[in-house]
Amino acid sequence: MGTMEDCCVTECTRCPALVDSRSRIVNGVGPEDADLLFVGEGPGANEDEHGEPFVGRSGSVLDDALRTAGLDRHDIRITNCVRCRPPENRDPKTDELANCRSHLERELATVDPEVIVTLGKVPSEHLLERSVAVTKEAGDLEEVRIDGAPRRLLISVHPAATLYDRSQAETFENALQRAAELAGVADSEGGQSRLDGF
Ligand code: URA
Repeated sequence: MGTMEDCCVTECTRCPALVDSRSRIVNGVGPEDADLLFVGEGPGANEDEHGEPFVGRSGSVLDDALRTAGLDRHDIRITNCVRCRPPENRDPKTDELANCRSHLERELATVDPEVIVTLGKVPSEHLLERSVAVTKEAGDLEEVRIDGAPRRLLISVHPAATLYDRSQAETFENALQRAAELAGVADSEGGQSRLDGF
């Protein structure tokens, strides 16, 4: 297990455009020995304001789906491909993803999770280094070498996708259910089936 310094970036000026648009660097949160590491795209306005990943609308969708899968936000680690908010919430550019990669790889090496869950297209393509049809591939588990280490990666849609397209809610929940089972952290019946009993 690592120390705070392994995972937290306190100073970085590699991306001039993001240095201009951020109010702070948003580091990952959650236990440094978590079994599951969730990776999003980058901070939005709420995350930039509070200094924590997934605390806005996408964050409540994520929290709800985690609960349905029998998981708790406090037991998983959540981070992003880039740690600084891009202007107007645009996607991070290729060079910005590359600039931030060593921060993500250090966090990954420290946490050493059982499974990485990529939330949406940007983190899925960034870590798998290929194009990904996220809606089609959500729930698929892949072996991938990251910074020399073999990793298990589970593809998921981004929580915000469920807000635009309700049919994605089930896809999202199924992916999280699979993540919980793979990490062996959900109770065997899953949160939802327990609730169904009432
Ligand atoms: N969307 C992301 O991809 N990451 C966040 O931290 C918040 C919203």
